[in-house]
Amino acid sequence: MKAFAMLGLNKAGWIEKDIPSCGPMDAIVKPIAVAPCTSDVHTVWEGAIGDRKDMILGHEATGEIVEVGSLVKDFKPGDRVLVPAITPDWNALESQAGSSMHSGGMLAGWKFSNFKDGVFAEYFHVNDADGNLALIPEGIDPVEATMLSDMVPTGFHGVELADVKFGDVVLVIGIGPVGLMSVAGAALAGASYIYAVGSRPVCAQAAKAYGASEIIDYHNGPIADQVMKLTNGKGVDRVVIAGGTVDTFAEAVSVLRPGGTIGNVNYLGRGEFVKIPRTEWGVGMGHKTIKGGLMPGGRLRMEKLARMVSAGRLNLSHLVTHRFNGFEYMEDALMLMKDKPKDLIKPVVVVAKDLMK
Ligand code: NDP
Ligand code: ZN
Repeated sequence: MKAFAMLGLNKAGWIEKDIPSCGPMDAIVKPIAVAPCTSDVHTVWEGAIGDRKDMILGHEATGEIVEVGSLVKDFKPGDRVLVPAITPDWNALESQAGSSMHSGGMLAGWKFSNFKDGVFAEYFHVNDADGNLALIPEGIDPVEATMLSDMVPTGFHGVELADVKFGDVVLVIGIGPVGLMSVAGAALAGASYIYAVGSRPVCAQAAKAYGASEIIDYHNGPIADQVMKLTNGKGVDRVVIAGGTVDTFAEAVSVLRPGGTIGNVNYLGRGEFVKIPRTEWGVGMGHKTIKGGLMPGGRLRMEKLARMVSAGRLNLSHLVTHRFNGFEYMEDALMLMKDKPKDLIKPVVVVAKDLMK
């Protein structure tokens, strides 16, 4: 089969590989649509998870099942499914302990384009099909539904990590597609004011549509100074970090009120250490909590988030700014994600012929 892969550090291209084989609990799926992610860029061009040779990229897809293993109960060939970016082993002890995303070791629930081949292929393998796949509900566009693989669950997980409560003042740093879903998630969780940090106008506009009260451009001076000015020196209750660098934490800690929480979902692709400013952290006693996490993955989460879309609570249409018709455009879509032109939020590559328009 044909696939788009990381050939080695700083190198991506087309390769031929065997169609994956299906274990008793697994499924083999052909993509309906796939989306490249900023994480694919970190992986290939920043070497963030180390070198990988001929590893198929991609972890965001919707697809059609072509084969299921003998023990799979709830899915059959022909089913159109949502595929989470994180596909834990639900029998693992880590999953039983509540850390499905770390089943088998730290971050090991993230299998696609990390521990095994990803979804940018004519066929891909899904482990634990009953625990990880979800049917695409009627009425949801299967192309936009690719945003349910990673953008929605990751952005929302940032909100969960930051523990946003009714009335909280929230700062979301980064309003790419992940941060935009954190803005939407914070609004749904009951935030009063949401300050959102980013500079691309298309993202700023979408952030407003998802519930941001005010946009902060990080090019106009330190984020912390701007937030303190906007909040009359009070700071914020919660920070979700979905963009920036290892240095962003210092700004987040500075604006956080005592008792507040930072939830990071940003993939720190470079830098040795995250620095926490001693004084602003209450000289170690400020009750300022810092959490960072990979989204948990799995079927239940997929079904619940998809229900938010079909119930009209969450509109995915603002996220997809570029639509490519045909798998052959995979490279163009990934390069868009790497170059981040001003009008980009998220590109999608439509693979299923009946959905090309
Ligand atoms: P984008 O690159 O599209 O968005 C990044 C955002 O951060 C943009 O709004 C950008 O602003 C802003 N930004 C850039 N530099 C700074 C800075 N120095 N200070 C503050 N803000 C800054 O990324 P995505 O939304 O696609 O992804 C966000 C992160 O989440 C990535 O690191 C990605 O790898 C990670 N991720 C993590 C996952 C997880 O499970 N934990 C899963 C998926 C993604 P501008 O408008 O100027 O571009
Ligand atoms: Zn992703």
